[in-house]
Amino acid sequence: MDYKEIKADVVIIGGGGAALSAAINVGKDLDTLILDKGQVGKSGCSPNAHGGLAVHYKDPNDGPEIHFEDTLLSGGFLNNQDLVRILVQNTSEIVPMLERYGALFDRDEQGNLLVRRFGGHRYARSVFCGDETGHEMMNGLRREVYRLGIRYIDEAFVTRLLHDENGEIAGVFFYYLPIGEFYVVKSKSVVLATADAAGLWPAASERQRGDGIYMALMAGAEIADIEFIQYHPTHAWWPPGVRGSVSEAFRGEGGWLLNSKGERFMKRYDPENMELATRDKVSVSIMMEIRAGRGAPHGGIFASVTHLPAKYVKKRLPVIYQKYKNFGIDITKEPIEVRPRPHYLCGGVVIDENAATKVPGLFAGGAVTAGVHGANRLGSNALTDILVFGKIAGKNAGEFARSREYHSPNKNEIEREIKRIKEIFDKPWGKDSISIGKVRRELIELMDKDVGVIRNESGLKDAIEKLNYIKHEISPRVTLRDKSKTFNFEVKDILELPFRIELGIASATAALMRKESRGTHFREDYPHRDDENWLKNIVFFLKDGELKVETREVELKYKKPTDFPEYAKSRSPWH
Ligand SMILES: Cc1cc2nc3c(=O)[nH]c(=O)nc-3n(C[C@H](O)[C@H](O)[C@H](O)COP(=O)(O)OP(=O)(O)OC[C@H]3O[C@@H](n4cnc5c(N)ncnc54)[C@H](O)[C@@H]3O)c2cc1C
Repeated sequence: MDYKEIKADVVIIGGGGAALSAAINVGKDLDTLILDKGQVGKSGCSPNAHGGLAVHYKDPNDGPEIHFEDTLLSGGFLNNQDLVRILVQNTSEIVPMLERYGALFDRDEQGNLLVRRFGGHRYARSVFCGDETGHEMMNGLRREVYRLGIRYIDEAFVTRLLHDENGEIAGVFFYYLPIGEFYVVKSKSVVLATADAAGLWPAASERQRGDGIYMALMAGAEIADIEFIQYHPTHAWWPPGVRGSVSEAFRGEGGWLLNSKGERFMKRYDPENMELATRDKVSVSIMMEIRAGRGAPHGGIFASVTHLPAKYVKKRLPVIYQKYKNFGIDITKEPIEVRPRPHYLCGGVVIDENAATKVPGLFAGGAVTAGVHGANRLGSNALTDILVFGKIAGKNAGEFARSREYHSPNKNEIEREIKRIKEIFDKPWGKDSISIGKVRRELIELMDKDVGVIRNESGLKDAIEKLNYIKHEISPRVTLRDKSKTFNFEVKDILELPFRIELGIASATAALMRKESRGTHFREDYPHRDDENWLKNIVFFLKDGELKVETREVELKYKKPTDFPEYAKSRSPWH
């Protein structure tokens, strides 16, 4: 036997906020195991979230119903309305829960929670901890996981979900990166919490590589809405060393966006909301200014908080302030240069209200899923999503595990996975060989160029053709140079390649099919929203081993576009 076998009632794949929230809620009577290909609680997007968590309806006019509407309006009504209802109805317990775990949020001198407003939210409803909200949240969740004694394994790269002979989930296969060994975990249920696939594009974080979305698809689940890649409008662009997104808190605290003429150009695109328009709209507006030759000197656009009191900026935006300070730039005195960068794939694995996928025993929560955010995610709704749906996924995976015995994972699936990995190690470097680094770079550049903020038919067709070329002609030549079994990250990158290529093709295919503009999907050849023909989700699934795609009417269960006359009247992709 080439692999070791372990057992756990419930396996959670991922170690970010959704995973930890799931693990905490499985139930103490069950044996839960968390597997993360990085470090549990430290390596996903969650610890890096800066700006806030949309949970607190402080304004007396605000409440779950308004939050529900804002989420649909931003999502272009492609959201699953039942999931959005669940999201907004479960916000009140979040701050008390996190504070019980030891995560503390910023409050005023009277002890009232402070909130900031993010783009597209009608009210300030996002609690925060300076601009280190995710870090604080994860510290709390991690402490609770430790307190409950939940088992976890770091550097455990899950590469395949395993079925029993009836097609139900029976466990997972993982490659243990520290020593290069194979493991099978036999389990009664599985929760996927592996984040989204923004890393198919040159995402700032590079953490979201689509593993869970691809594995779920291959295991028989459906995936949807993967044409909607959200670009974060204000990614630090210059100097090149200042990496990462400039949190939306920057705009939420009153920051301005300026073109080379010093104009607050958002007045041209959205005079009502200005810099606090939704991310999709701000990203397209910035790209339009850059295209019109009104960009900043290094290819970005200016963002400025110099009009705000310096003391306020340092208190509310300490991480951004310090980050630039390290490069000799004082953001209280001079504007910075930013540019939209890929940030979040709004689609993913299709789940129902119980966070269950179509595959019995497989649950999913957080950024890996589709449905909550529709065509565009509101800033600060992601952290709410991972806590609410992580919990639901964990609870229901626990219930499912209690209702059944262990089943035996299919031996053929295990053998095929071992063979696939061994072949990577056995393949010698030859004259046609090519390194994974080169292919990865080509892939993300191609996605950015042709499947990015502004799209059109010829670019999308070109992308699909090139992706297929990479799949058939280039990827068979990819060869491992470092044959070491110890912490071999090159082999990890090679194992991720099919995830990247297949999801890239699917995303470009869906973007080509959607002949309209909506949310983050902006087609310059179809620049308007088309509610008559395109209130539909694009869904991918396997049938008899073949990848199929179809459109499905959205169920407008509680609200429809015509309930918002201004929105319905407008043909703008936004409103
Ligand atoms: C810089 C930045 C700032 C952000 N700011 C905010 C904000 O202010 N407010 C907000 O609401 N949202 C914000 N977001 C988005 C938000 O942080 C994420 O959407 C959310 O944290 C995702 O949580 P998750 O648990 O689903 O995934 P993650 O936290 O990304 O965790 C996924 C985990 O899965 C693991 N994993 C992946 N594949 C495998 C595999 N095959 N096997 C084993 N493990 C695997 C990864 O190692 C990772 O630890 C921000 C994101 C970024 C990158």
